[in-house]
Amino acid sequence: MDKQIFNTIIIGSGPAGLTAALYAARAELKPLVLAGLKPGGQLMDTTEVENFPGFPEGIMGPELMENMMKQVKKFGTEILPENVTAADFKNQPFKITTDKAEYLAKTIIIATGADANWLNLPSEQKLRGKGVSACATCDGFFFKGKDIIVAGGGDSAMEEATFLTKFANTVTIVHRRPEFRASKIMLKRAQDNSKIKFIGDATILEVLGEKSVEGLKIKDNQSGHESVLPVQGLFVAIGHTPAAKIFAAAGIETDQKGYIVVKNHTHTNIEGVFVAGDVNDPRYRQAVSAAGMGCMAALDVEKYLTEHE
Ligand code: NAP
Repeated sequence: MDKQIFNTIIIGSGPAGLTAALYAARAELKPLVLAGLKPGGQLMDTTEVENFPGFPEGIMGPELMENMMKQVKKFGTEILPENVTAADFKNQPFKITTDKAEYLAKTIIIATGADANWLNLPSEQKLRGKGVSACATCDGFFFKGKDIIVAGGGDSAMEEATFLTKFANTVTIVHRRPEFRASKIMLKRAQDNSKIKFIGDATILEVLGEKSVEGLKIKDNQSGHESVLPVQGLFVAIGHTPAAKIFAAAGIETDQKGYIVVKNHTHTNIEGVFVAGDVNDPRYRQAVSAAGMGCMAALDVEKYLTEHE
């Protein structure tokens, strides 16, 4: 029997991938979603989402993703929890290889998002899961009554720090510059929280401890003075890297930072391969903008298939 050729395979299951799936399914394209081993994307690691329209009281990130998943499944979309390991865009149909199987499709929507960045200190990597984390929602509970550090100066750092005050005794935000790039509202919320302290213009040199975090060695960037903060946890919130390497290896054009380059709204440099969400977007990086782009990519796929069939 000939192998099934999908109209479109959507790779990724964050707001971009699931919105693309919703539109493709309603256009009767019968999309296949390769959701990854941890479906739902970055919002699965976040707390309350206050800026996704339609939820005046806010909604928890995982609940929002669960709702999107339900909505997509309602239209009969197949969602497989498989990790894509390779892509071949040389010939039609395109070939996608996962940890379990190979799939063929006329078009592809890449919506793989972005992964958390690390400070890349050997001591940080050694103590990951032993007091070092990049996900406050996942691990915050384990830090009841502890003193912890959040590294970073963006909205994620403010959000993580604010969330962690539910559990921690104190939270200190350590940032490499004196100014914080976080939005005013998020910064103010953290500043107004009596449990949160700030150390700006400092470099984290080492995470101390053998089996668990016992302290953090930092350096004041102005004076060069080194000191040890006696803490039991480090949450790293210093941005993300787009999950685009597999596609770059398959000939998809990426920029200097590894983000997929968009040619015409959602088209990539390879005809029939489209992109949506954070894997292409270092600028906005919002759930709602990712969802919007997912919608655009599915509409572009529909147009492409109509024109080519
Ligand atoms: P971000 O805005 O890129 O901020 C990353 C922070 O980490 C920056 O302060 C950066 O310092 C610092 N940093 C980067 N590399 C570092 C390194 N190697 N060592 C030390 N510090 C380092 O990333 P983000 O905070 O994850 O936010 C990403 C996007 O998501 C933003 O658009 C943000 O608004 C959005 N977001 C929104 C919400 C919300 O509204 N609820 C929550 C979270 C995120 P510099 O400032 O010096 O570059």
